[in-house]
Amino acid sequence: MKPLPIAVCTMSDMSRTLVNDPIKVRSEELGVRSSCTSRAQRQTVPELVEEPTYALVEHFISIDGEGPTAGALSVFIRLAGCNLRCTWCDTCYAQTHQSATDSITLTQLVDYVKQTGIAHVTLTGGEPLLQPHVKELLQALSFVTVHVETNGSIDIEPFRVGEHVHFVVDYKLPGSGMEHTMCLENLEKVTLADAYKFVIADAVDMQKAVALVKQYNLTRKTQLYFSTVFAEMTPADVVEVMKQEKLNGIKLQLQLHKYIWNPSERGV
Ligand code: SF4
Repeated sequence: MKPLPIAVCTMSDMSRTLVNDPIKVRSEELGVRSSCTSRAQRQTVPELVEEPTYALVEHFISIDGEGPTAGALSVFIRLAGCNLRCTWCDTCYAQTHQSATDSITLTQLVDYVKQTGIAHVTLTGGEPLLQPHVKELLQALSFVTVHVETNGSIDIEPFRVGEHVHFVVDYKLPGSGMEHTMCLENLEKVTLADAYKFVIADAVDMQKAVALVKQYNLTRKTQLYFSTVFAEMTPADVVEVMKQEKLNGIKLQLQLHKYIWNPSERGV
C-alpha cells in the first residue's frame, strides 16, 4: 500500500512552541508530564464567575475517520494545545495554545452543535482534556453522544460526567517518542463503551501493542483498534501479526478521511 504523507514537526518548532505555552503550564498543573497522577482529581474547580471559553482551532461537520463511529457523521470540535510532541503528529497545527483561531464561549459551542442537527460530537485536539472547563463543556453536551479523543497521558476518570461521554484513548507506542508519558491507569479504567487505539509505526510498536493487550486483558475491557503510521509497518503487516497472534477482538483501522480527502487537508 502506498505510504501516506505525514506532517512532521521539527525540533526547533517544538522548542519554540513550548515556550510560554499556557497548555504546558496547565499540563504541569495537572501533573501529566511524565505520568498521570490523581492531582487532576484532587483539584477543586474554582467557582465560575464568567462563562467558560475555549481555545478553538476549528469546528466542522464530517464523518468520523476512526474509532467506534468511523464512517458516521460527527461534529468535530478541535481545541488548541497539547502536552505531547509525537514524532509522527499529523495535527501539529493544534499543538499549542497559540494555534487557536478563536476563543469561543460555552453557549456558542453548544448552540453550534445544536444547529448542526448531528447527534454525535468528536471532541479532539491537541489534547482536549487540558482545556480549562472541559468538564463543563462535556456536561453541557449531554443532548448528544460525545467521543473524547485523548492522547493517553491524562487520567480519564475525572472527566466521566455522564453516559453520553465515551473515551477514545491513544496509547503512544515507542515509535511516537512519548510512551513515557502514558497513564497506565487508563488501561484499567476503560470500559466497553470506550476504546483504545494503538498507532503502530514499526515492528517494535506492534510487539508492544500485542503485549499490552494481553497483559491488561484489553479485549474483555474495551474496544480495540490498531492503525498504522507509515510505510515501515503497512496495514498488511499488521493483519499478518493479527493472524499469527490470533488477535480476536481487535480491529485494524485506517484513517478514513485520509483516503477520502487529501491526507493533509484540514476541516474534513
Ligand atoms: S498527542 Fe496528538 S496532537 Fe499531541 S503531539 Fe501527539 S499526535 Fe499530535
